[in-house]
Amino acid sequence: MSFRFGISTLFMKREIDCPCLTPEAVLKASGHVDKFTDLMVKDEKKGTCYRADHLLKDFCNEKLEDQDRRISPEMAMELKQVLSKLDGLSAEELGACIKKYGIRAPETDNYLSDPFPFNLMFQTTIGPSGSSIGFFRPETAQGIFVNFMDIYYDNGCKLPFAVAQVGQAFRNEISPRQGLLRVREFTLAEIEHFVDPEDKSHVKFPTVDKLQLPMFPRDEQKPGQSARLISLGEAVHCKIVENETLGYFIGRVYLFLTRLGIDKNRIRFRQHLAKEMAHYAADCWDAEIETSYGWIECVGIADRSAYDLKAHSGKSRLEAHEQLSEPRQVEKLVISPVKKEIGPAFEKKQKNVLEALEAMDEEEISKMKAELDSKGEVDFFVCTLGEHVSIKSSMVTISKVKTREHQRKFTPSVIEPSFGIGRIIYCLFEHSFYTRPDKTGDEQLNVFRFNPLVAPFKCTVFPLIRNQRFEDVAKDISKSLTAAGISHKIDTTGTSIGKRYARTDELGVPFAITVDSTSSVTIRERDSKDQIRVSVKKAVSVVKELSEGLRTWEDVWWSPSQRWKRFWRSCFRFILSRN
Ligand code: AMP
Repeated sequence: MSFRFGISTLFMKREIDCPCLTPEAVLKASGHVDKFTDLMVKDEKKGTCYRADHLLKDFCNEKLEDQDRRISPEMAMELKQVLSKLDGLSAEELGACIKKYGIRAPETDNYLSDPFPFNLMFQTTIGPSGSSIGFFRPETAQGIFVNFMDIYYDNGCKLPFAVAQVGQAFRNEISPRQGLLRVREFTLAEIEHFVDPEDKSHVKFPTVDKLQLPMFPRDEQKPGQSARLISLGEAVHCKIVENETLGYFIGRVYLFLTRLGIDKNRIRFRQHLAKEMAHYAADCWDAEIETSYGWIECVGIADRSAYDLKAHSGKSRLEAHEQLSEPRQVEKLVISPVKKEIGPAFEKKQKNVLEALEAMDEEEISKMKAELDSKGEVDFFVCTLGEHVSIKSSMVTISKVKTREHQRKFTPSVIEPSFGIGRIIYCLFEHSFYTRPDKTGDEQLNVFRFNPLVAPFKCTVFPLIRNQRFEDVAKDISKSLTAAGISHKIDTTGTSIGKRYARTDELGVPFAITVDSTSSVTIRERDSKDQIRVSVKKAVSVVKELSEGLRTWEDVWWSPSQRWKRFWRSCFRFILSRN
C-alpha cells in the first residue's frame, strides 16, 4: 500500500533515510539506554517473562466478562478503575495489584516476581573489535535529530520545517502478540516538525480547527467515561491540547486515517496520563482505533519539546537562530574553562571535556555554578565520551558579562506524529472487510472495501468470454495500464464473469474492466456493483482518475455522458421488451 506516498504528500517537506544500527552514544544521550523500558514479571520457578500490565489487564477483563461467576458491583468498579489508569501505574503499584488479586503465571500458576524494568532495545556490537556497543533503533526519530543542523541549513535556516522518515524500528517486546499489532520489528513512519518554542502556532491550523473529533482528555479517563466530540479549535483554545501545532497534527492524522478508509466512528484521540508519557514527551495524544482486540494505539502525536535536540547537543549545539531587528544589550552567565587545571586532570580526554563545557547553555551553567558554590565539585556528563567526569571549582570560572546580541539563539521544539504502519494496516483490514450474499443467496462472499487510493490492485481486466479479439483488446488495455503506473491483474481464464468478480472483490480490487466488444468496455465498481460503459480508448484514463482520487465513482456515474448512456439503454430495453 502506498503509505509512503500518503505520508509524504499529506505532510512532509523532506524525507531522509538513516541507518537502523545506532551507536550507543546516540541512544545514551536520548535517554533510551536508561529509560526505554517496560515492566516485566517472571514466573518464579520457570523463569518465563510476562509484561506486568498485560497480565493485570487480562485479569481485570476476564473477571469483568465472566458471566458464570459474577463479581460484586464494588469489585467491578474497582477493576474498571484499575483498567482506566493501567498505562500510568508505577512498578510498585503494578506489583501491589498483582499481589492483591493473587495473579499467577498463566501457564504454570506459579508465583510471580515483583515487576522490574526491562530495556526494549536490541543490543549488538559494531565493528570487529566488539568493543563498540550499538543498538537497533527503537524509533526512526533519533537519526533526524542528530542530523538536525544539516537539515536546518538545507532549509535556509528557517523554522518551522518538517522532516519525515519511513523505516524499520526494533523493540524487544516482552510478549509479542495479536499478529501485526505487537511485533519486534515493524515499520514506523515519523514526522519531526521543528518549531520555535516561543511560537507554536501553525499557519494551516484554520484548515482543521472546525473538525469535531472524539477526544479523551487525561482528566476524563475515569470508569464509565468515554471520548466526547470537541472541536480542535476549542480544544486548543481551552488548552486541552497544548498548542496549535500539536492540534494541527491531530487534525491531519484524523484526515489521513479516514482518507485511508478507517471508520471515522471508531477513532478516538486519547491524551496520555501524566505517568504514562515517554521520557521525552511534554504532551502526547494517541490516535486509537477500535478493533476486535479493543482500542489500539496506532499513531502517537507528541510534543517532545526541546528534549531531543538538547540531549544531543554535545560537541556543537543543535540550535536555531533568529536575526533580531534591533540588537539588544544582555547580561549573560558565561563559563571559561581553566586549561592549566583541565589539561593535567583529564589528559587525553581534555579536548572532549573542553568542548562539552564550552557547549553549555546558560541554564546548565547556572545549575553548575549553584552546585560548585555549595559542594565545590560537580558530576558532569560528557556526551562524546559517554561518561561522567568530575569538575572542580578550580577548573572553571563562571561570571556575568554584558554583550550586545544581534541574534536570538534557541533550541527548537519538536512536534512528532509517529505512525505504526502495521497497526494501521491491520485496522484497515478489519474496517474494510464485509460479506454479502451471492446471487443465489446461499453463500456469503468476502469483500474488502479498500479505498482506491490504497488498494494494492486498482483494477482487473477481463475478456468477457474466450475470444481472441477480446483477449487482444484486454492485453492492449493491460499494457496501457502498466504504462500509466496502475497496478492491475489480467484474467484471461474462461471462468464465469461472476466468479472472476467475486475473486477480485475478495482482494479488494475496486474496479474491473470487462472487454465485451472491440470498441467499448464496461467498468464495474466493487461495492455498488454498478457498471458504466466507456470507449476502449478512455478506459485507462477513467480508471487512473478514479484510483488516484481525482474523481469519485459518483462523479463518473452521474456525469452527463453516463446518464445519457443509461437513458438510451433503458429506452432500448423497453422497446425490446415490447416487441
Ligand atoms: P511509540 O514510539 O511507542 O509511541 O510508538 C509509535 C507507534 O509505533 C505506535 O503508535 C504504534 O502504532 C507503533 N508500535 C509501537 N510498538 C509496536 C510494536 N511492538 N509492534 C507494532 N507497532 C508498534
